[in-house]
Amino acid sequence: MTWRQQIQRQQTQRREQSLWRERQRVSAQGPRIEISGKPYLNFCSNDYLGLAQHPALADAAANAAHQLGAGSGASHLVCGHLEIHEQLENALANFVGAEAAIVFSTGYMANLAIPQSFLKSGDFLFQDRLNHASLLDAGKLCEARMVRYLHNDVNSLSQKMEKMHRRGATDSRAMVMTDAVFSMDGDVAKLQELKRVIDQEDSLLVVDDAHGFGIFGESGAGSLEAAGLSVKGPIMMVGTLGKAAGSFGAFVAGDKHLIEQLIQFGRTYTYTTALPPTVIAATLASLELIRSSDLRQQLKTNIAFFRQQAEGYPALRARLLKSHSAIQPLLITDSELALAASDQLRQNGFLISAIRPPTVPPNSARLRITLSAAHRLDELSQMLEALNHVCESLPEPRSSQNIGSLDTLKDGNE
Ligand SMILES: *Cc1c(COP(=O)(O)O)cnc(C)c1O
Repeated sequence: MTWRQQIQRQQTQRREQSLWRERQRVSAQGPRIEISGKPYLNFCSNDYLGLAQHPALADAAANAAHQLGAGSGASHLVCGHLEIHEQLENALANFVGAEAAIVFSTGYMANLAIPQSFLKSGDFLFQDRLNHASLLDAGKLCEARMVRYLHNDVNSLSQKMEKMHRRGATDSRAMVMTDAVFSMDGDVAKLQELKRVIDQEDSLLVVDDAHGFGIFGESGAGSLEAAGLSVKGPIMMVGTLGKAAGSFGAFVAGDKHLIEQLIQFGRTYTYTTALPPTVIAATLASLELIRSSDLRQQLKTNIAFFRQQAEGYPALRARLLKSHSAIQPLLITDSELALAASDQLRQNGFLISAIRPPTVPPNSARLRITLSAAHRLDELSQMLEALNHVCESLPEPRSSQNIGSLDTLKDGNE
């Protein structure tokens, strides 16, 4: 088979399976956007607090460009580590109550750096089987053996750790990585229970709070704060800055010796250009707003309103997964139906993405509604109305037993 034939076959197959992806050209980020001049209400952005378009962030970026220029010029370990980078690292550490923090160019890169910096051959990396792709890829990139445990099932984790001991791995270290808020399901990891397990095992726990940072907890520090846990000792936190924070980049926070390990050994830190000062300045402005504005409260109000109203629509109630985060998935199961539902909503002016395999397990295609503090209640009502209309015309949803079977799919990648 030639290259051309092979590519053609793969792409044809992707279309036939209703898994074809298309990019849409949107006017700008925000709750109300345009595509080809037509207005839409946007329910697929991760801009949970509506900060991506906030004038305070834009001003901060513009001022930084004028004062410090557009580029950082080099990687952090060469000469690209500007004073403003360190200012942000200190601000982030302070924000989440950690000893230290390190800023990465993206969350994907932050996650790639972690297992590889701490684990060697013979070590074990335990991951929730619904973790974000960047965590799974991080596992492939390190020398340790990756073991995936059943979704949000601490017993499954403990059993797999016992098995590690039975293998007689005496000088093996273990690390557990988990999404804090699962990105396609919106549910939250059992962080307290995970902490108990890793304490018994002298392991490290890495919590990727891409969807909780800036939202959960008394001060917006995220899911660990909400669970009453601190970012210290064996716990490291990953936060991304392109979602609730409305700018770009990511950070890892924790004990200063752990953070130093990432500076020394994190290949996605060493071998890439530092973020430009514009992005850093925008993030500093964002932290101020997360701290002082009522945006987090508005988001909470919107989430509660959405869930309470959805309860009143039987077609929605039956499909809505249990989530109290800004991510509200509506299970459709079939990819083709999910795509058709998303298309129909789009024709009516609502952008809600269909999430299909391989992003989610087989037979669990869904509509993923993401809510923002910037949505108005009347917009949520309109969306619910349209969503209900679309769901009423779908075949009966699978029983909750089948939905549960997502968690018991054959363990993939041990
Ligand atoms: C979005 C996301 C990432 C990646 O972050 P980027 O900064 O966009 O690269 C990592 N982990 C989770 C759980 C995410 O949802």
